[in-house]
Amino acid sequence: MRLDKLISNSGFGSRKEVKQLLKSGAVAVNNEIIKDGKYQVSITTDQVYIGQTAVEYEEFVYFVLNKPAGVISATEDNRDRTVLDLLAASDRIKQPFPVGRLDKDTEGLLLITNDGKLAHQLLSPNKNVGKTYYADIEGVVTMADVKQFNVGVYLDDDYLTKPALLEILQSDQISQVNLTITEGKYHQVKRMFEAVGKRVVYLKRVAIGEWLLDEQLETGAYRRLTIEEINYLK
Ligand code: URA
Repeated sequence: MRLDKLISNSGFGSRKEVKQLLKSGAVAVNNEIIKDGKYQVSITTDQVYIGQTAVEYEEFVYFVLNKPAGVISATEDNRDRTVLDLLAASDRIKQPFPVGRLDKDTEGLLLITNDGKLAHQLLSPNKNVGKTYYADIEGVVTMADVKQFNVGVYLDDDYLTKPALLEILQSDQISQVNLTITEGKYHQVKRMFEAVGKRVVYLKRVAIGEWLLDEQLETGAYRRLTIEEINYLK
């Protein structure tokens, strides 16, 4: 593959930044300084260095975003900003996409990757991967709701939801709850509460399986996944 493509795909900057790097003489292939971005390299046999740093080709990228309200979980949109607009240009090069959808007004844990196989695995209802949401609910959430969610509720299209785990954190005029579901029907959490006569006024995804949104990641911020996180999700 082209040397400039390898370098930019490996997270060392945009094509323009890589051009500068090459021009400055910082790039060596098999101990020889190469300034021509068109130079062909093999990702398996050639050793590419930027200064003292080895360039390792990575096919897949994995990011976790703490999605803010007001952006769309899509790769492009004519009207609104998308979650990809929150990524640096160099992190968009490998064309990652959000895994599953959070509504425009929903916040929280969103995986962004170009690993289609992993995305499929996480979204497949057969895999039973739990997604946990924190929600503020208008109305008093009761133990009857907990039991109802545990056996399933009929949504407005007569779909019966799979058993879901509802945990009441505070029961009041605005109740606070955690809800874990294993499916991803359209607006599922909001529609489940509608089915029991209540309204979601704030929604945030806080976990996928045992993978928790870290408290330090501010709303709108993102980071690369650690190897441990990637292995856990796979
Ligand atoms: N359920 C919803 O209603 N909205 C979301 O964004 C996610 C789950």
